[in-house]
Amino acid sequence: MTEPIVKFQDVHKSFGELEVLKGIDLEINPGEKVSIIGPSGSGKTTIIRMLMTLEKPTSGKIIVDGDYLWHMEKNGKIVEANEKHLRQVRGNIGMVFQHFNLFPHMTIMQNCIEAPMHVLGLSKKEAKQRAIEMLEKVGLADKVDNYPVQLSGGQKQRVAIARALVMQPKVMLFDEVTSALDPELVGEVLGVIKDLAAQGDMTMILITHEMDFAWEISDRVVFLAEGNLVEQGPPSKLFENPESERLQSFLERFS
Ligand code: ADP
Repeated sequence: MTEPIVKFQDVHKSFGELEVLKGIDLEINPGEKVSIIGPSGSGKTTIIRMLMTLEKPTSGKIIVDGDYLWHMEKNGKIVEANEKHLRQVRGNIGMVFQHFNLFPHMTIMQNCIEAPMHVLGLSKKEAKQRAIEMLEKVGLADKVDNYPVQLSGGQKQRVAIARALVMQPKVMLFDEVTSALDPELVGEVLGVIKDLAAQGDMTMILITHEMDFAWEISDRVVFLAEGNLVEQGPPSKLFENPESERLQSFLERFS
């Protein structure tokens, strides 16, 4: 049996008094496409931010590709991770945010080669080669010399996807990547993500409010409510035969 590439083991997260994740157990297999759905405030983004090492769990373990994310082994004991360990495991994970977070003063090419040169230590030539390849994937190879301000929101988001892909992460995270876009620009970004998913091997975790998209793209859908993983399964099961009342009433909003 394949080892899951991502594992959450009884993960809790509190912000002060507020417990936003109440013991999450979740395993994701290599190459699997998993959508996380649920009402606003249910803890979806917190899950993704913990994977991106932007938030630390209050308790529990997260494992990515065999490595603890927030912990490490030292002299046979599991201790808190240091910055060096975090930097190393972070390299396995790519993220695309709701707001594209492109550097405004850099061209599209510069945006795409910055991290591979400085984090992975690639030469400028190697980084550019990778960047072109990924920009071609998202259909924007002709924009290399443009600045973000010259691009539409949809194009900016496609650049952000290419920029994350250039790092060749093992796991890609997409956090509501279309929710800041004008409705007419949503389709092109979802199209790029669908193409990526269809290519197969990349493990993808997506938070989305686009239920049709989640249905089409996902191997599995995970429903989160009030910090609990309430229900999960193949999209046909979750969307057509939701078991819990909580999910039934959530889905009614989209019908
Ligand atoms: P979702 O993505 O499902 O909308 P989030 O994970 O963003 O949910 O948030 C879950 C809860 O945690 C919300 O009540 C939110 O206000 C709270 N929260 C998130 N981040 C912080 C933070 N840095 N400090 C305090 N509260 C936070």
